[in-house]
Amino acid sequence: MSKVTETTLEINLASLKHNFEFLKSKLMDKTLFLAVVKAFAYGSDAVVVAKCLQKMGVDYFAVAYISEGVALRQAGIKTPILVLHPQEKNLELGIKHCLEPSLYTLKILQTFERIAQQQNQKNYPVHIKFNTGLNRLGFEPNELDLVAEQLSKTSALKVRSVFSHLAASEDLEEKPFTLEQIKLYKSLSTSFIETLGYPIIKHLCNTSGVLNYPEAHFDMVRCGIGLYGYGNSDKETKNFQPIATLKSVISQIHLVKKGKSVGYNRAFISSEDSKIATIPIGHADGIGRHFGHGVGAVSIGYEKAPIVGNVCMDMIMIDVTNIECEEGDEVVFFGSEYSAETSAAAANTISYELITGISQRVKRKVLNIPLDETSL
Ligand SMILES: *Cc1c(COP(=O)(O)O)cnc(C)c1O
Repeated sequence: MSKVTETTLEINLASLKHNFEFLKSKLMDKTLFLAVVKAFAYGSDAVVVAKCLQKMGVDYFAVAYISEGVALRQAGIKTPILVLHPQEKNLELGIKHCLEPSLYTLKILQTFERIAQQQNQKNYPVHIKFNTGLNRLGFEPNELDLVAEQLSKTSALKVRSVFSHLAASEDLEEKPFTLEQIKLYKSLSTSFIETLGYPIIKHLCNTSGVLNYPEAHFDMVRCGIGLYGYGNSDKETKNFQPIATLKSVISQIHLVKKGKSVGYNRAFISSEDSKIATIPIGHADGIGRHFGHGVGAVSIGYEKAPIVGNVCMDMIMIDVTNIECEEGDEVVFFGSEYSAETSAAAANTISYELITGISQRVKRKVLNIPLDETSL
């Protein structure tokens, strides 16, 4: 294991490869793989992750917003990029960078059509999203004919895929609901393709969908969290390897007498003579205040040191009374050995929130770069 000398998020590309191959092993050979790299590839590094996946032959990328897609193009990513939630204002910029929008209301469809026509585009690839029960984004099932008619009037656009999103693919107690969603998606996508009269990629599943509903993989799957090493249950997670490990170092150690306080608002009062270490990471880095007061902990070697008192903006204090350690020693928040899932659960949240919240201030370090890749 490498040692760090400042707060660092290590990104292990060997683990990314493992997760990608594990997910691929759950698919039929012909099923396409879309990697979701929104939100800096779930808080890691979107460019590094996308370059690595592009090399491994991923078929598609997805981001949430146009600006995220622009950043990937500017870094040299050539693979098609689906933008899940484009905002009207940025549609033109999206075309400039060959980004493919998800169209989810008549208004955004018409706006995009107008822009594409003005630019004399022919068959510009777009993706049509239907709402099948999540009630977040997407055309309603009864808008199908309207959408198809609108699209048939223009040669500027061509539908590349028709998709929807599952609301509870990870929750097997909601299986009847999910099966209904799958059924609805199946009939909707079939009649949509019949109405348009040309082949269109169908996709529905996210990571948990891939693992729990093999009958619903259709032509392509959209995986995010699994690539980064987490599932939505112990059973799902056990085959993945977390790609990111968050580490820091001890800046200073204080001997705090019984009855003395630590940190802002004197939120921790020492019940015995204690040894308290200060770590250079705080809520501005993504370790939220809900991890204070002993809820969160860091690992030093094989020992756990709880966070004491309030989390500060740039620092936390941890109790190392019974741990042999000194200034400069490395501490680990989460990663390959200490799951972000466990830390997240302690603070009443999920791995997705903890890993995507690690701020851009934290240094990223890439490990296990493939030998033939020099530019990552
Ligand atoms: C974020 C997202 C995904 C990825 O989901 P995971 O659970 O991380 O695999 C897939 N599809 C859509 C529409 C999303 O917004």
